[in-house]
Amino acid sequence: MAVGGNVAGDGRLGDSTALRSTAEIAELIRARVRDVADYPQPGVMFKDITPLLADGTALVAVVSALSSGHDGVDKVAGIEARGFILAPSVAIQLGAGFVPVRKQGKLPGPTYAQSYDLEYGSATIEVHRDAFGPGERVLIVDDVLATGGTGAATAELVRQAGAEVAGIAVILELSFLNGRAQLPDAPVRSLLVV
Ligand code: AMP
Repeated sequence: MAVGGNVAGDGRLGDSTALRSTAEIAELIRARVRDVADYPQPGVMFKDITPLLADGTALVAVVSALSSGHDGVDKVAGIEARGFILAPSVAIQLGAGFVPVRKQGKLPGPTYAQSYDLEYGSATIEVHRDAFGPGERVLIVDDVLATGGTGAATAELVRQAGAEVAGIAVILELSFLNGRAQLPDAPVRSLLVV
């Protein structure tokens, strides 16, 4: 059962302890995500969410907003590594299970795997073959949507494992990289678009 995460009809997101408008949430994030130039390699502007995570009020509001409107989901899939910080809290808020989507070679059991290109480099991610029941509804959670490759690969893993993608929720979307174009079959919610 959900313990929060309603959407009031007036565009406000959150539960009764963290009821904020989408604009307020966006501003909370904008003020607390730190730009780190040339990390992890030259030319990349890294969006560091650690100041946001360190602010309890902002953290509650962000988890609530990521969860909002997803009361029916069965599982929340978090993408390694920063999706792991957020997804379990979202799962608890929704009364859903948590599934880790991990980098290659980290999961002990039989897996499905997908390879994809990143804004910087390339990667392979995996999920346990038995992570989802048939037809389960899955919310995918990560910190940043950049080129969309990670989200698209995760959505493919969810479908490969027999489940359904209910949505993709991220804190921050880098719109100049047009990641949404990689995710035409899943509703994407970004709490802040830059
Ligand atoms: P992408 O597959 O290009 O959408 O990249 C998304 C994944 O890479 C997420 O797991 C992010 O954590 C990470 N990522 C990509 N670009 C950035 C960035 N500029 N700042 C922080 N994280 C990023």
